[in-house]
Amino acid sequence: MPELPEVEVVRAGLADHVVGRRIAVAEVRGERVARRHAGGAAALAERLTGRTPTSAERRGKFLWLALDDASALVTHLGMSGQMLVLPPDDPAVRHEHARLDFEDEGPSLRFADQRTFGGWSVEPLVTDPFGGDHPGGVPASTTHIAPDPFEAVFDAEVVAARLVTRRGPVKRAVLDQGLVSGVGNIYADEALWRTGVHGERPGTALTRPAARRLIGHLQDVMAEALEQGGTSFDALYVNVNGASGYFDRRLAVYGQQGRPCPRCGATVLRSPFDGRSSHWCPACQTRPRHAPKGDVR
Ligand SMILES: [Zn+2]
Repeated sequence: MPELPEVEVVRAGLADHVVGRRIAVAEVRGERVARRHAGGAAALAERLTGRTPTSAERRGKFLWLALDDASALVTHLGMSGQMLVLPPDDPAVRHEHARLDFEDEGPSLRFADQRTFGGWSVEPLVTDPFGGDHPGGVPASTTHIAPDPFEAVFDAEVVAARLVTRRGPVKRAVLDQGLVSGVGNIYADEALWRTGVHGERPGTALTRPAARRLIGHLQDVMAEALEQGGTSFDALYVNVNGASGYFDRRLAVYGQQGRPCPRCGATVLRSPFDGRSSHWCPACQTRPRHAPKGDVR
């Protein structure tokens, strides 16, 4: 699933290729891609026709094109959604569910999604409750999403102060999009490893400086991933030109079970966590006694 760096790469591509171009034709194929849009596929296509995207924006994993009528085309990438910029004459790509063609006859925008957990909807823009840098506002469905670590309004001290009050696992807290947005399994595991903290430790067991270090590592690892064009580990993430990111090869623990920890050489483990997995070093990240077992090497 794309996390903050991957969504930012897609956002930057949309800013370069789509913003400022008037939509001539919108095609929405099937109801599934439009299931979050009130009125369904036909209403969504009609709603987009004639509009002009004025900016490409993001908060955490939420991606939207602000439109010239105080609304936004929100793209849910889900597990496998792709926004692709392609010549208008190119045939439909595999799993293409929607496309926009523009009045200037330049490249078209396609939305492809193999597993169709993603989709498009048009929503009103409302005032950002967090006062971030979104002059036109944020989509109405995102007002519960906290600022992400790439935003100027993100306050690491405030998030650290909240983190140390969480009684549940600290990994669950950093995945809570209402506390800090944009973090998913990959960068949570990497930042916890860098901090030397096991994800099953309760937030209350962390000192404030340790919580602050963890947030600093989240910011660093996601910034490094962004420089590499993101992580394509789970295969389906690509930028608007269809290219994969290169951060996979820098991953220390995520997906590295059975391999040596880059810091100490101990064998990286994978353990169940909240219905998914955690990847961690048993020497660098001491596991609390209460944590569930079931490791895979
Ligand atoms: Zn280690």
